[in-house]
Amino acid sequence: MGEKKIMITAMGDVMREAYNRGWITTRDGNCSLRRRNTEILYITPSAVRKVTIIPETIVKVPIYKNNLITDGLNPSGELHMHWLLQKEDRTRSVLHLHPTYTIAAMRAGWDLFELAKEFPEVHRYTKVGHNVPILPVVSSELAYATFDAMISVDGTICYDIVGQEQHGVCAIGKHPWDAFEHIERLEHICKITLASGI
Ligand SMILES: [Zn+2]
Repeated sequence: MGEKKIMITAMGDVMREAYNRGWITTRDGNCSLRRRNTEILYITPSAVRKVTIIPETIVKVPIYKNNLITDGLNPSGELHMHWLLQKEDRTRSVLHLHPTYTIAAMRAGWDLFELAKEFPEVHRYTKVGHNVPILPVVSSELAYATFDAMISVDGTICYDIVGQEQHGVCAIGKHPWDAFEHIERLEHICKITLASGI
């Protein structure tokens, strides 16, 4: 199997694993992929059962003059969130999930940026940004606020993951599994924190 097929197959695999871990309900979450120097954005389809995703059901959105051509396609409702992070070749893969303890930690009042600083196994490998406030799902406001929370003033990405209050997380990586690992690390320390009762 070539690298392209492996990467696209991984998009379905991460969604299945996220579902098995209880980090999404059946139709939640989304994943995108853009390979270097290509004019296609691969993204999971809207509203399908995420455990069923295979390479043939991944939506291939053409990129023309730095714009997406979505006519007749059924991309994820969070396409805008993915595209802001992907459009300047800033990253290769974006993954949005609803991990239980991470959302619970934000609900309990934690800013995930501050929480991650207390756990060396996280901040060594995963840079966690400040929380994104409560905003409507699939909205441009959520897309821009997520993007702003992940970039520095010069427009480069400076965090691997941010939490979105009352909603989920957005993570990036070279590969869908890299983005998944950032979510996994953050979810683990949120679970530890909440279990400790602090
Ligand atoms: Zn969501």
